[in-house]
Amino acid sequence: MIKENLELVWKNMQEACQNAQRTPEEVSLIAVSKTKPVSMLMEAYGQGCRRFGENKVQELVDKYEAMPKDIQWHMIGHLQRNKVKYIVDKVALIHSVDSLKLAQEISREAVKKQVQVSILIEVNIAGEDTKFGVSKEEAEQLICQIAPLPGIHIKGLMTIAPYVVNPEENRQYFAQLKQLSVDIKQKNIDNVSMNVLSMGMTGDYRVAIEEGATCVRVGTGIFGERQYPV
Ligand SMILES: *Cc1c(COP(=O)(O)O)cnc(C)c1O
Repeated sequence: MIKENLELVWKNMQEACQNAQRTPEEVSLIAVSKTKPVSMLMEAYGQGCRRFGENKVQELVDKYEAMPKDIQWHMIGHLQRNKVKYIVDKVALIHSVDSLKLAQEISREAVKKQVQVSILIEVNIAGEDTKFGVSKEEAEQLICQIAPLPGIHIKGLMTIAPYVVNPEENRQYFAQLKQLSVDIKQKNIDNVSMNVLSMGMTGDYRVAIEEGATCVRVGTGIFGERQYPV
């Protein structure tokens, strides 16, 4: 099942790239494996997946220990400051930074462990009450505050779009996040690159790619429905 699912996701990603006249190499797939057992991750690994996304620190660390070492681990969930120390030297990218205090903690641990940590700024692009992330208006200021911290590199922006039945409803939000990243990139802030745009999930990754995503986070579309709410 995972093999067929992945083939479909890859095909859809390719088509979305074609629609937007982008090359498939510009967009990477993060297999969101939260709540799923290592056996299923290994199946996806066997099909060529090398990027996995998790939203809980303990689960990420457990899977990191259990899985091959050529995997990029992506922290995509809300991160508590007291847990930063467990993952800074294990993750390729932290997608969910939305406060200076969290960034300061990441920086402190990065310096202590002598690693460079790449992060994205999470933006609550639709302004939903229930979502983490900074507002569009706050993003640039936060980026300017984080940029000088040692051991940390801001690579771009991430958003979790609203849950919608028709993915077209989220096109506006993906376009807004893209525009925000272009605007910030133009400011040429030291230590900020803005080349990564992490947006799009199972329901809307095609639209997200058409609007400029460089990174889509697909869980259900690869591994099937999750058994318990997360
Ligand atoms: C769970 C999760 C996803 C994947 O969601 P699906 O709808 O299962 O593809 C993507 N991004 C984040 C931040 C998540 O928590």
